[in-house]
Amino acid sequence: EDIKPYIDRIANGETSSILLAYRIIQLLLSTGTSGGQPKLIPMTAESFEKRMSDLLLSDLVTRKCFSGSDEGKSLYLYFIKPEMETPSGLKASFFTTFYFKTESFKNGLAKFCTSTIDTILCLDNKQSMFCQLLTGLLQRDEVVRFGSTFASVLARTIKFLEDYWRELCCNIRTGYLSDWIIDPGCKNAMSLILTRPNRELADSIQQICEDKSWEGIIVKLWPKIKYIHCIITGSMSQYVSLLEFYGGGIPLVSPIYNSSESSFGINLKPLSKPFDVSYTFLPNTAYFEFLPVGKDGEGKAQETWTDDEPVDLANVKLGRYYEVVVTTLAGLYRYTVGDVLKVTGFYNKSPQFQFVERRNVVLSIDVDKTTEEDLSKAIMKAKLILEPLGIMLTTYSSYADTSLTPGRYVLFWELKMKCSNDLPKLDAKIMEQCCCIVEESFDFTYKSHRKGGAISALELRVVKHGTFDELMDFYVSKGVSVAQYKPPSCLKSEEAVKILNSGMVGKFFSPKTMF
Ligand code: AMP
Repeated sequence: EDIKPYIDRIANGETSSILLAYRIIQLLLSTGTSGGQPKLIPMTAESFEKRMSDLLLSDLVTRKCFSGSDEGKSLYLYFIKPEMETPSGLKASFFTTFYFKTESFKNGLAKFCTSTIDTILCLDNKQSMFCQLLTGLLQRDEVVRFGSTFASVLARTIKFLEDYWRELCCNIRTGYLSDWIIDPGCKNAMSLILTRPNRELADSIQQICEDKSWEGIIVKLWPKIKYIHCIITGSMSQYVSLLEFYGGGIPLVSPIYNSSESSFGINLKPLSKPFDVSYTFLPNTAYFEFLPVGKDGEGKAQETWTDDEPVDLANVKLGRYYEVVVTTLAGLYRYTVGDVLKVTGFYNKSPQFQFVERRNVVLSIDVDKTTEEDLSKAIMKAKLILEPLGIMLTTYSSYADTSLTPGRYVLFWELKMKCSNDLPKLDAKIMEQCCCIVEESFDFTYKSHRKGGAISALELRVVKHGTFDELMDFYVSKGVSVAQYKPPSCLKSEEAVKILNSGMVGKFFSPKTMF
């Protein structure tokens, strides 16, 4: 908030020098943690260069773990969003959009991708997705990596494949591109790749996709894939089981922890299991400080922050929780990003952190505050009883329903059968048990309010497969970029709740009283 007026003045035409010594080359739109309006974050040529070297470093570390991964191609699904022009003439865009348009991308990473630049730069995400998948399938024997920025994009890609594989096969079989692909860039690019009918390839893809179970579909379609590459920690961890299932158990590599404001750290152990991933801070990326976050006995972030002074990078303590504060090359001074991290170790003197949660993503009724981490842990426990029944939780969200007194927390779960796309048969007793496990896993404050009657029984709404895609479409229509979309663990918008309600196929409650 202190810096915002300066950035606004620059966006309105004043010189960058009112805030920083260097020239701003672009304003970045951050989806950040506020969940609302994107913020404008300055970027300079130097800060962009630094970011590129962090990405490169992370990529090198990952490639070192997989022999022969230099040889093939990457099926990376990338998307952009239109840029905006500010009154100063400076462009404002998402970092990913800016990056995909640079020469660094064109002459670097893009050379190893199956997707051509024109399909990535297509502003219609649906046409772009179709063409990127088509080029990926046409080159299926060369693909050694499957990935994107965040796991949410890959979850979306798999759903798209489920809906469009027949049409993709038809394009490959006939050699003709579907006529709804009208974007000139896509058409042009595809005319160079989809050059002839290929019945044999179409038949083999069809045979794989016709299988009732899609377990391991990614490695079946792209047999040389060695790993899946995307951010899978924090709010993305809800997609771990989905990607493990469709990926047939190939490693999930979560390479980097960064934001529009700054890069923070890279994963030096790419083969770590998703829930064990730590990021080693890159001390020369920005000036980092850490605000100690109080945690009570149950490991829940306290509402009031400790009065402790921020500590420097070299003075954080193992096992403690901190909120990261950053001073960047591009004009941010002691800026709190809103992410809570836990120190898990050190690499030389540089600390390694596990991502814990976004600080302001909380479910709240009265004095109870259930954080993103509390919610995720509780749901991960509860979903275990669905697994033996062949039911998969593909994604979830929640909101605090205070329209009634006392209010209650409502969970939305998208469920599907592992072996098919059929709607699972929902046994009321088991679903109620899920509600109980979630409530039991919440902290002391929640349970005492629930027992005392200040919070009503938890409600679980099951929605049909694909409902969360509509939620993503909604946020994308509001300006969020697909490439930087973070699934909202806690909904604040009534419209968003409405969208999920429209896909509801069953609702269940905890028992009225908590024993
Ligand atoms: P954006 O503003 O779109 O750049 O989003 C940045 C935010 O995404 C960060 O502040 C984090 O909350 C989240 N994020 C980025 N990288 C990771 C990661 N590796 N693990 C968990 N969350 C992440």
